[in-house]
Parts: sequence; C-alpha cells; structure tokens
Amino acid sequence: MNPSCPCPPAERTTESAPLPLAELQSALPAWTARLQADLTVSVRASAENVGHLEERIAERVREVARLALEEAAQAKADATPLRCPVCGQPLSRKKGGATRTFESRFGPITVCRPRAWCRRCHAWRCPADAALGLGDTSGYSPGVQEIAALSVSKLPVAEASAVIERLAGVKLPRATLDREARRQGLRAEAERTQLDTQMRTAQGRAQQVRELQLELPLEPFTLVMEVDAWNIRERDEHWGKSAELRAAGTEPDRWHWVYGATCFRLSQRAQTAAGRPVILSRGYVMTRGGIDALREQLFAEASRHGLGQAADVLVVADGAVWIWNLVDDRFPQARQRLDLFHAKQHLWAVAEALHGAGTPAAQAWLKPLLAQLEDGQALRLLDDLRLALAGLAAEPRAHLEREIGYFENHRERLDYRDGKARGEPLGSGAMESTCRQYQCRFKRPGQFWTQRGDEALLCLETFWRNGRWKHLFPHVGSFDPSRN
Ligand SMILES: [Zn+2]
Repeated sequence: MNPSCPCPPAERTTESAPLPLAELQSALPAWTARLQADLTVSVRASAENVGHLEERIAERVREVARLALEEAAQAKADATPLRCPVCGQPLSRKKGGATRTFESRFGPITVCRPRAWCRRCHAWRCPADAALGLGDTSGYSPGVQEIAALSVSKLPVAEASAVIERLAGVKLPRATLDREARRQGLRAEAERTQLDTQMRTAQGRAQQVRELQLELPLEPFTLVMEVDAWNIRERDEHWGKSAELRAAGTEPDRWHWVYGATCFRLSQRAQTAAGRPVILSRGYVMTRGGIDALREQLFAEASRHGLGQAADVLVVADGAVWIWNLVDDRFPQARQRLDLFHAKQHLWAVAEALHGAGTPAAQAWLKPLLAQLEDGQALRLLDDLRLALAGLAAEPRAHLEREIGYFENHRERLDYRDGKARGEPLGSGAMESTCRQYQCRFKRPGQFWTQRGDEALLCLETFWRNGRWKHLFPHVGSFDPSRN
C-alpha cells in the first residue's frame, strides 16, 4: 500500500490528464486470471447456480474496487490545497506524510496525507482529511459511515451488524457499529440545529426551501399539521437501583415521552391506484428533547412546508392539553380540530358507563350523539349530554360530568362537517401511523435506550424520512427515500 509515501508534491497530476491509477492497471491482468479461474470452477460445479457466480464475482470485484479507491483517494489527498479546514488560512511548515487507515466499503484503505501548521488556529492540520470526508477520529469512509447510520436507525445493532456483513461485505462488530451510528446521529442533531436556526431568517428560509426543492404552489393552500406522542423505555441514572427506589417508596419510571408531528399541504393528499390514501410530500419531526424542542422543530419544519405562505393552517390532534397549549403558543393562526376517533371514544366510554358495555341500550343512546358529533353540532351534543345527567347515580354522574367537561374544552375543535366538506383530515391518523412506524424500531421487546442515544437515532430516522439524507451524506446524490 502506498509505496510512494511520504507524500509526493501536490502538483503531480495536471487537471486534464486522467488519473494514472498505475497500481490498478498493473494488478488487472493477474486479477482477471484469478476471476477466470474462480468462474471456471463455479460454471463446472453442478451444485452451483447464479447465486454462487454472483458471490465469487462480488468478492473479486471488491479487490479491484479497493485498489481503485485507495489510489484515487491518495490522488485526492495529494491534490488538496494546503489551507486550514477550520479557518481557511494558508498553512505553513508542511510536514511529510502521516498515514491513516480507514475502513471503506471495499476493505481497509491507507492514505498518506501531508500535515501543516495553522498560524491562526495554532494547530497542526491535515486538510486532506476534510477533503476525503473523514471526521477527526472516524476510522470509516463516508460510505461506511452511511451504512452504519442507515442500518442502525432501521435495525437493532446485533442484527444490523450481521446484515451489513452479509449484504455489503463490511465487518462492523456490534460495539463499533453502535458507536459509529450514534456518532452519525449526533452529527445529524447538529445539522438539524443548524438547519432549524437558518429557518428563522427570511434569507435562510428562501435558501433552504430552494435547496430542499420544496417549491411552494402559487395558488392558495392549506397547511395541515398533526401532533402526537408515544413513550419509550430508557435506562436512566436509576438503572439497577429499582429495589432501592421501591424501598424508599418511589416507583422507578423508565418510560419517557417522544414527541412528534407531521405537516403537509392539503393538496398533497392523493390516493394510490389501490385506493390507499397517501401524502405526496410530508415533513416529519420526532424528538425525545421535550415539548419545547418539538415546538421549535415543528415551527422550522412547518416553515419549510409553507407555514408563512399558507392561506390557512389546520392542526389535528387528540385531546392532550400540552398539544393545544403548544399550538396556541406557536401557531396562533391555526384552526384546531380534535381527532374525531378520540372524540368518539369518549362518547363510547360514557355509553358504557351509563348502559353497560356493548348493550343495545348503549348503542341506542349513542347513535344520535355520534350523528351530532359527526355533523359538527357541538352545542346540541353538549345540551343532550347535560340532559342525560338528570337522575343519574353519583358514579355515572361523575363520569358524564367529566366527559361534558372534555367536550366543553374542545367545543371549538369539533367542526367535522365543514372539515369533511373541504376534504380535510378529520383525524390525526397520518401521525398515529407515523408513530407506530417509529415504534417498530424503538419499542422492541427487551430494548432499553438512553436519552442521548435515542435522540441521535430518532434524528437519523427523521432525516431519512424527510428526504434530507443527502445533507448528511452528500455522496448519495439525488437519492430520496421518501420518493420510493
Ligand atoms: Zn486554522
């Protein structure tokens, strides 16, 4: 590897000449012979099929791919101008090469990079590292960094480690894989903070909407937001002290809230050929950072999807008090709607309390009330519920009073008839299904998380869903998973 080390001068190649790739060229004849021998054996083996051929070819191709990558990476390191990657100043006191080995998609690569002194930062710098896409301490190429981030945000680490080795041929032991994925998650969090901060200025907003290709329509549109939460189990500072805590009279609480939201333009709702409703372009927010974090992240995401330009803003969510406080606080212009299914559940619960679960009497009592609810007749519904109080015993009366309070609270959020006429969502099903999808990864049996760890992975998953993967891994180009 790299017999030319220490570094040759940067001027070695001119701009128009193709890279010589001398090592690769000289290795090819022997490589072709090895491939030929392999394939001959496989073609003649009656028990082997195309799968075996694929396997043998892939293994051989890795050898030349590794050589090509190593030579090209070295050429890139050699061509990197000696400028400080932190402050941009020209560097001085150039030193001979320091080799660095890192794991790539095709095996380990060693590159020799010059080091030089930055007089402004008072530090030695390797400008080639930044040009190669290597972090300060990472032992992995950007391609492997992406593999770690993507697989661990989708799969438990142990499974991910095996799947990566099988599909990509990259060996990442569990502990290293876990560490690398979390490192990428922290990078994603920093990137999110930067993007969200940028959204607070008009100039930053315009630039980001352009970059993310979220061009808004010229005709007036409604922006819909749905908000919800789910809980996650974590190992916290009390881990392993449950017995002590219980003895002291405190039940250890390992469940914590993850807050989420989604936003989309009403005109972006469509149906698949099979009649399944889909939303063409959606923004997602998911955070373990508390309600304040959700509020600010949702504001930035909604702004990307046209909050500032929307003719009309609608929020749909269940009855949780924190949601409506957040909406009043950050989105005071929004119309508010209580999720219809949750509202119905409250009526069902009253019917059961008054007439028994599943009885014909409960059904008969419920029917006109459900019709009023769906018809948006909040006042009539409340009147009828109050009439039903007469003559009730203490316990069902208390229950009904509670539910009357619930519908009183949400009286202004029950406009289902108008919503239906305008083709708007009556419930927050889109968000609830999103939460369920996240839970498929984050709520497996026996899984425990830490706040720092789960925020990092939630953030990666959300970058992926938002079609912003290329912000973290520029090499993916125009690939956008949300269009798959
Ligand atoms: Zn510097």
